[in-house]
Amino acid sequence: MSIIKEYCGIFGVYGHKEASQLTYLGLYALQHRGQESAGIVVSDGKQFRYHKEMGLVTDVFNQEILDSLEGHMAIGHVRYSTAGSSALKNAQPFVVEHFADPLAIGHNGNLTNTFELRTKLEKEGSIFQSTMDTEVIIHLMARSKKTKWEDKLADALKSIKGAYSLVFLSRNKLIAARDPYGFKPLALAKKDDAYFIASETCAFDLIQAEYIRDIEPGEILIIDQNGLKSIKPFPKTKHAYCIFEYIYFSRPDSNIFGGNVYQTRKNLGRQLAKENKIQSDLVVPVPDSGICAGLGYSEESKIPFELAIVRNHYVGRTFIQPSQFMREAGVKIKLNPVKEAVKGKRLVIVEDSVVRGTTSKRRVQSLRDAGAKEIHMCVSCPPHRYPCFYGIDFPTRKELIANQYELKDIAKFIGADSLNYLSYEGMLKSMPVPENKFCTACFNGKYPIPVKNEISKLELEG
Ligand code: SF4
Repeated sequence: MSIIKEYCGIFGVYGHKEASQLTYLGLYALQHRGQESAGIVVSDGKQFRYHKEMGLVTDVFNQEILDSLEGHMAIGHVRYSTAGSSALKNAQPFVVEHFADPLAIGHNGNLTNTFELRTKLEKEGSIFQSTMDTEVIIHLMARSKKTKWEDKLADALKSIKGAYSLVFLSRNKLIAARDPYGFKPLALAKKDDAYFIASETCAFDLIQAEYIRDIEPGEILIIDQNGLKSIKPFPKTKHAYCIFEYIYFSRPDSNIFGGNVYQTRKNLGRQLAKENKIQSDLVVPVPDSGICAGLGYSEESKIPFELAIVRNHYVGRTFIQPSQFMREAGVKIKLNPVKEAVKGKRLVIVEDSVVRGTTSKRRVQSLRDAGAKEIHMCVSCPPHRYPCFYGIDFPTRKELIANQYELKDIAKFIGADSLNYLSYEGMLKSMPVPENKFCTACFNGKYPIPVKNEISKLELEG
């Protein structure tokens, strides 16, 4: 059984007659969180209707499909997975029935004890339909002796370790849950009498819903005809918000974990400039995710900012293409330097991360081909040395270039005149929330939830 790693976007609606249309818009806004499959499940209080397919939100749904999804409650999901696991059987929301009572689930994050739990369940007779860790939660819920879905969920989550932001739909309830560490963002909003749940607040902007608050770490929020009810069945623990959501993953127009992503990325860029005073003619961001940090770098350093690398917007994000071949093809076709802007210039290139180094190498080469005189690569976070087991698809340790090589050797490998990372302290200083609230395991190897077995397994695979 492969360990499924994924990052995803989730959305939910309670109490709106156009629930499917609004979920479609919500998923549209969350498309950056997963591009391999999309799905919506609706309930009209009596029965479920659903549609899910491989592909982008716009490819998966059309007006006719959305019109057929009648109901005032809905959940939706966009998904990304690692190689080998991008089959339709793993597309979410996942829909099951238990004693003729339907339930749908959408999950963002990655569980760390799936292997043990699944093996135990299978030994005891459970049969699984998918390779998703999410399905384990449903099996555990089905075994609970409690009668209400939320109580079954609380029971199930007590055995679960890892990162999860979840949305559930039953016939009459929308339920949202976030793990006690709060790895993944999840927020609540309201419009008229309807409530909304989303991975990121940019989804609320699109449907003109008003943000109320985040779902708290360790909270299960139930929304039904009686309004909102919150339960907190877990002992309090240290928070571990994924810092990489601020650096790369969330949209800049979202507010997550109590701060704005755009402003935070600009802060990262400013700090990067304070720490690395480089003589250059232009600050050039790698679009799109390096733009905010590039602006910050330029403002702080007073070096002019130029959008001298142009992105083809009709190509998926390179980092999240599942196969090496697709990653390589993606790099070649997606970014193109403006020769007239870079020729003969000393450039500070602002990038959000260097993972394997192969993408940066090709980028530097294309800038050299365009006539750049000097290329100084500046990265708006510290070196990535450790894999993530909580839902972001970093490669194994051996594939992470910063884990294998010294800074000067990486600079040589990618062909840059210099390579400059933001310091760990500088990264934390740039954050809008206190530093002890974050997971930073991919930078320092201090995993908030132990992952020893998975590390050795993946290292063997790698
Ligand atoms: S290891 Fe890194 S990417 Fe994974 S949750 Fe922690 S900060 Fe985020």
